Amino acid sequence: MNKMKLEFYSKLENEAFARTSVVAFLMPLDLPMEDVMEIKTILAEAVVNAMIHGYENVEDGIILLEVSYDEHYIYIHVKDDGCGIDDIQKAMEPMYTSKEYLERSGMGMTIMQTFADEFHIHSEAGKGCDLQIKK
Ligand code: ATP
Ligand code: MG
Repeated sequence: MNKMKLEFYSKLENEAFARTSVVAFLMPLDLPMEDVMEIKTILAEAVVNAMIHGYENVEDGIILLEVSYDEHYIYIHVKDDGCGIDDIQKAMEPMYTSKEYLERSGMGMTIMQTFADEFHIHSEAGKGCDLQIKK
């Protein structure tokens, strides 16, 4: 069992920082390239969602990222204290986006779910968003 924790501001440039830090943390596992690509994609989708949806127009919102692993799985936890999601079922639908004007494709949640072995989301309007992913 090993674990890391990062906290950073909701500035878009921190997405690459978060993603590459996690890849570095997971190096000792010597994962197949395909798994690394999928984990990077999950992280990018989760962190960008926290930045552009949770903390829309807020550059100093705190994003918490925790990653741990044991001999079987990698556990990813991404949490923001932003605006939250009032209809999770709708947010999970493929091609649903609340930001059509930004030309988002609405596929982030679907992609994370596809690449994860387990995907849990806890959120309420005004209460931030909490993602738990097992891979
Ligand atoms: P894409 O990910 O394809 O660029 P998207 O971000 O709109 O587009 P999803 O990632 O699937 O699509 O998210 C669907 C919707 O869920 C978003 O449009 C947004 O309304 C809501 N959402 C997702 N993450 C958060 C979050 N952390 N805080 C608040 N709302 C969120
Ligand atoms: Mg998204």
